[in-house]
Parts: sequence; C-alpha cells; structure tokens
Amino acid sequence: MNLNLCSPLRRSPAEMRIIRCFGEQPKRYSELGMRGHNGLDLEAEEGELVVAVDDGEVVEVRVDRAGYGLTVKLAHAWGESRYAHGLKLSVPIDFHMGHVVHAGERVMLAGSHLHFAVRLRKAHGSLDTTNANGFLGWDDPLPFLREALGLPAAPPPAAPASKAKKAA
Ligand SMILES: [Zn+2]
Repeated sequence: MNLNLCSPLRRSPAEMRIIRCFGEQPKRYSELGMRGHNGLDLEAEEGELVVAVDDGEVVEVRVDRAGYGLTVKLAHAWGESRYAHGLKLSVPIDFHMGHVVHAGERVMLAGSHLHFAVRLRKAHGSLDTTNANGFLGWDDPLPFLREALGLPAAPPPAAPASKAKKAA
C-alpha cells in the first residue's frame, strides 16, 4: 500500500528514536495470545505533543487500565491509527467522538513513550479486529513512516541476481 504518514511526534527525522519494533518480544506477548509487540514504540518525553498522522475522526478515547493508559484512536480513509500511553486527561477539551483532526494536529500529550499502531483496511474495505494475524488486527506502521523516521525509501523488489562478473 502506498501510504505516507506524517510523524506522530513533532520531531525531525533525526530526533526520532525507535524503542521497540512491531513483532518484538514474541515470548512476552505470547502470554497475551499475540505473536509479538503489536505496534511501534517511539521515544517521547513526558508532556510531548502527539499529533495525528493523517486527517481522521476520533473514534475512541479511553483509559486502558490493562497497560496502555490513555489511548486515542482515529479512523482514516485507509484504516485506523492508535496512540497509547498518553498523559491522563491530556486530550483537547473539545475532543470527542466524531471530532475531526487534521494531519499534524494534537491528539494528546505523551506520558512515557508513544505506542503507535495502524490497522489497515483489507481489500474488501473492512477492518479486521480479530486476532487472525496474531496482533489483534494491528499492522506494522514502520513502512508508512519511513519519511518521518528518516529511513531510506523501501528497496524495490529484489532483481534477479546478476551473473557474477568474470575476472578480467
Ligand atoms: Zn508498545
């Protein structure tokens, strides 16, 4: 999918730090019935601004006592984005279900780090909220944050191995 998201933090690519990738710690997450970490953890300072990665609509604001703390979920044309570990009560005062947020606008303030995840619409347009993929339907956001993270563009599909050059 050709999707280029804004950074969820107002940091330059050089200042972005990945703490934990998608799929890491399979052993720990197997206890939760998952194949691994189901998002991307980014370093964030307490109180740091967390912003929408694309235009979207607020579909969930809640405090998850199981570990994610304050979480906000936005619905987008392509799927959903989720921001977790926010500072409690740090969502804007007019933030509610159906509130429209534009790319780069405030979603919440970071508590510790930011847990960021995306859930992409399937070919038929629906969202998979089951655990069929082993990550509760969440997808790895890294491929869509390459520019925000200052990573080189995804390599093109591997070309057939060229014949080894004969020594002159
Ligand atoms: Zn996380």
